[in-house]
Amino acid sequence: MTTESRIPDVSEAQIEVHWREEDYIAPPPKFVEQANANDPAILDRFAERNFPDCFTEYADLLAWDEPWQTVLDTSNPPFWRWFTGGKLNACYNCVDRHRSRDRNKAALLWVPEPESEQPQTITYQELYRRVNEFAALLRYHCGLKTGDRVTFHLPMVPELPIAMLACARLGVIHSQVFGGFSGTAAGGRIADSGSRVLITMDAYHRNGTLIDGSGKPSARNDAIVISVATVVMAALQVHWVALAAHFVADEVKALDVPGVCPLCGSLPVASMVCALPPYQGYRYLHCALCATEWHMVRVQCSQCGAVGKNIAYHSVEDVAADKGPSEEGGPAVRAETCEQCHAYRKILYQEKDTGVEPVADDVASVALDLLLGEAGYHRASGNPLLWLPNTI
Ligand SMILES: [Zn+2]
Ligand SMILES: [Zn+2]
Repeated sequence: MTTESRIPDVSEAQIEVHWREEDYIAPPPKFVEQANANDPAILDRFAERNFPDCFTEYADLLAWDEPWQTVLDTSNPPFWRWFTGGKLNACYNCVDRHRSRDRNKAALLWVPEPESEQPQTITYQELYRRVNEFAALLRYHCGLKTGDRVTFHLPMVPELPIAMLACARLGVIHSQVFGGFSGTAAGGRIADSGSRVLITMDAYHRNGTLIDGSGKPSARNDAIVISVATVVMAALQVHWVALAAHFVADEVKALDVPGVCPLCGSLPVASMVCALPPYQGYRYLHCALCATEWHMVRVQCSQCGAVGKNIAYHSVEDVAADKGPSEEGGPAVRAETCEQCHAYRKILYQEKDTGVEPVADDVASVALDLLLGEAGYHRASGNPLLWLPNTI
């Protein structure tokens, strides 16, 4: 007997009589009430005769930085252009405006694989923090700016939308290569898109299997391995700190060049207000390379020397609470901004946290850099543990 002859000769109608459910199930009124499109008149509003003006309803749902002028520009088919002249930030629309209204509402609910791991709830406030943190990493660690391109080779994890939103925040163009594709396939797409940064994961779970991608090859031999740059800088720090340890502080002559390390000539990474007697309350600039610290009076710009009203202090907490600049003090890590040169350096307060460390806490507070960058300030100098080719 062949397989074919075993298939019974029944019609669709004969099969249908065995179906258990054939009715339409109407949603409960309570569900309809809270639905976004609960007005039956929507069908009329979006009727063909109202095209394309009816789509302004969608535009009105968004926050625009610059208002649009034309709903749909059809002058150069097939290049249809919607809401021409308008400008918006997708990340702001996805995160910030919800955070200001529903900061504790779940923005992402993620069920990890394996299922034995706890589901994760990421609120809008948490999402805002993580997106800013990652955007700061892209800007200050990878040196990315608006218009640059990056490639993601990521599985279905919360880090993927976080990374996408971070790119959108900076205006960085991203291309997501499906996580199931090989490293070689990802490499080809890196080369095609002209991106110089790849964001990926060493390993992840998929279909019950742990996929180890740590050996992922790249088709681009000149792809920058940013983590190596950090290790090289850390090694240089070890070497220079060891050299600096041979000097006696009182015997080091002051340099003619203000604002640089009197021992090695590097720029300071941050400054710290000492809490320990006998130097309690004194502010010291900290060398990024040899860790030498030298005194500088407080409430003065360490970049241009401006004083008084030109100087203000900001923390992530202040910015998140929409508070303006303030006087010195407050959280353990703040930024000292200058209105004269529009530069800033972090300032650390030992009395708030005895464990603060200028180089490490500068890296740990990169979200502050992003917020200050958005406010129009630039870093006075780089951090050797961040990859900043233009400032080190
Ligand atoms: Zn130095
Ligand atoms: Zn200044």
